[in-house]
Amino acid sequence: MSELPPLEVPGRLHKLRPLLVDAGVDALLVTDLSNVRYLTGFSGSAGVLLVEGARDRALLVTDGRYRTQAAEQLEASGTAGSVELGVGGAQVQRDALAGMIGSSVHRVGIEAEHTSWASKRRFAEAMAPAELVATAGLVEALREVKDAGETARISRAAEIADAALGEVLPMIGQGTTEADLALALEVAMRRLGAEDRAFETIVASGPNSAKPHAQPTGRHILTGDPVVIDFGATFDGYRSDMTRTFCAGRAPAGELARVFEVVRAAQAAGVAAVKAGVEAGDVDSACRDLIAKAGWAEAFEHSTGHGVGLDIHEAPAVASGSTAILAAGTVVTVEPGVYLPTVGGVRIEDTVVVTGNGCSPLTTFTKDVVA
Ligand code: ZN
Ligand code: ZN
Repeated sequence: MSELPPLEVPGRLHKLRPLLVDAGVDALLVTDLSNVRYLTGFSGSAGVLLVEGARDRALLVTDGRYRTQAAEQLEASGTAGSVELGVGGAQVQRDALAGMIGSSVHRVGIEAEHTSWASKRRFAEAMAPAELVATAGLVEALREVKDAGETARISRAAEIADAALGEVLPMIGQGTTEADLALALEVAMRRLGAEDRAFETIVASGPNSAKPHAQPTGRHILTGDPVVIDFGATFDGYRSDMTRTFCAGRAPAGELARVFEVVRAAQAAGVAAVKAGVEAGDVDSACRDLIAKAGWAEAFEHSTGHGVGLDIHEAPAVASGSTAILAAGTVVTVEPGVYLPTVGGVRIEDTVVVTGNGCSPLTTFTKDVVA
């Protein structure tokens, strides 16, 4: 396996600090674990990072299970010099955080979307007399634009997913069940080097294909069925996301054939609209307008796409009316679909990286319909 470019973790705290000033806080308590990982390289399941805005100081607290791992990961990511580590039980962690709050810190931001009411109360006690202030999307904004190391990892996840789908696709013609196909796909991804699936795999056939987020069932796939497969792999923390819809055993007929055609054209139009400087909402309308023209506006009920990275759904949303400006290096999905209860559903999705003059797809599996 070829060497991947390193993640540029150490520079991220520097990029975050000006955003704290803009948000009117002297420090930020980072509680979202993907945000903690992004800023420090620490990937444990428990930990809080306190970042000071004015001084080059940050403190990661976690519990004893992660004593060794946290130290190793700070070292490996290059942040050991700029992030102090505090390890111990809940009270030890709160005391360590309180100890960081000097007399110059009056307002401490919390990640309002990732902090429970109960932990907000505990933090308020620990941070007193500093005041807690709700913030939203500060680290997430930084995460939108990927560095070369991140894109390479998403791309590797996508390659693994593509290869796994190629391995299991013949099962469709053999009358497999949805659940067996989903399991085989996940096992293949793991065998090909994924550390996990990126999210719960969707395999939805026949009438189930008309439910955008169907769970795989014991239903046997029949000739002529549409089969929606929406899945991804996780590689070194980064996820991929792809949907293909196949027709089992033969070319689709009647209205289903038209649905395939329209969704494929809409997805191509959406991908063609992706470019640095474009509003995410314009990518959504590129897809939506074609589907509406075909008379199926109501049958495309979800948004066109989303950012992908450490999380399967992250900023920016590629949704109707979204004014988020796509920047070069942002990774988003384009995934229109049409779902007709009496005919079936079709969704086609690629993960793409935005470039100055368009985008390059990271998921490249064939869009040939018959499987
Ligand atoms: Zn998907
Ligand atoms: Zn998606």
